[in-house]
Amino acid sequence: MPIDVPDAQHVHSGKVRDLYSLESGDLLMVVSDRISAYDHLLTPGIPDKGEILTRMSLWWFEQLADLVPNHVVSTQVPDQVRGRALVCERLDMFPVECVARGYLAGSGLLDYEATGEICGVPLPDGLVDGSRLPEPIFTPATKADIGEHDENVDFGAVVRTVGQETAEELRDLTLAIYARAEGIARGRGIILADTKLEFGARPDGTIVLADEVLTPDSSRFWPADTWRPGHAQHSYDKQFVRDWLISADSGWDRSADLPPPPLPDHIVEKTRERYVQAYEQLTGERF
Ligand code: ATP
Ligand code: MG
Repeated sequence: MPIDVPDAQHVHSGKVRDLYSLESGDLLMVVSDRISAYDHLLTPGIPDKGEILTRMSLWWFEQLADLVPNHVVSTQVPDQVRGRALVCERLDMFPVECVARGYLAGSGLLDYEATGEICGVPLPDGLVDGSRLPEPIFTPATKADIGEHDENVDFGAVVRTVGQETAEELRDLTLAIYARAEGIARGRGIILADTKLEFGARPDGTIVLADEVLTPDSSRFWPADTWRPGHAQHSYDKQFVRDWLISADSGWDRSADLPPPPLPDHIVEKTRERYVQAYEQLTGERF
């Protein structure tokens, strides 16, 4: 599945990204056009998705550069992957998905409905799908293998994994990044409901922001003007895909353990438009 890249050795493929090791010791992170939903890899891919997400991540790394160092070394990459790959520092990754939530949705909503809290953080009664939380919260998760769900854990579990001091640093950085990004997005008419970050350490121990940041694949973006708590929000990501998959049109039975059917052209095109729109509205740049 991963393509051949000259002078680069393929080391890992996730659902969406392919990692290669370079002779310099750095990593080449290639973002494909693959798209996943409901823990399935879908076909076909979404044209330009890899490039849009790469550019969006880069834009965010710059917006956050005074808060946290990032892993980007260079955008000079082989022709085969031009525009959708970055050369990154190879870090020792912390095995924690660092999630910040400012609004209630997704697994946070499910946990809240079941227990009144998320990741051990108690929340007031009466919140509904899409509610703004009293303040943004850190809701870490453990990384799962392909095909598995990430599992929400409490702060104590992070402390047991990385130690008290690092756990506090990861939490504080995650919330600081969320606050910065939420403000920037809000100024452009977009609600950043939540986001998942990954950090790693340099050999000298410095904590560095890695992976992709603040893309529609790692975050929930909602148009601010249609936000209305009490129902699922319209979102700038794979919503078309998800809605179509669970609609009668797709003929897919989510509960049966079968792969979803191929996406029809109009769903692919609409989804591409949403990614382009999110990029343009956030950055103010044309794709
Ligand atoms: P998926 O996201 O599909 O569930 P995945 O996380 O294994 O699976 P990707 O996200 O595509 O797959 O792969 C990126 C991998 O690279 C992740 O494991 C991530 O932790 C790791 N990674 C990101 N940045 C760095 C870095 N600077 N150094 C080392 N590893 C990194
Ligand atoms: Mg990942």
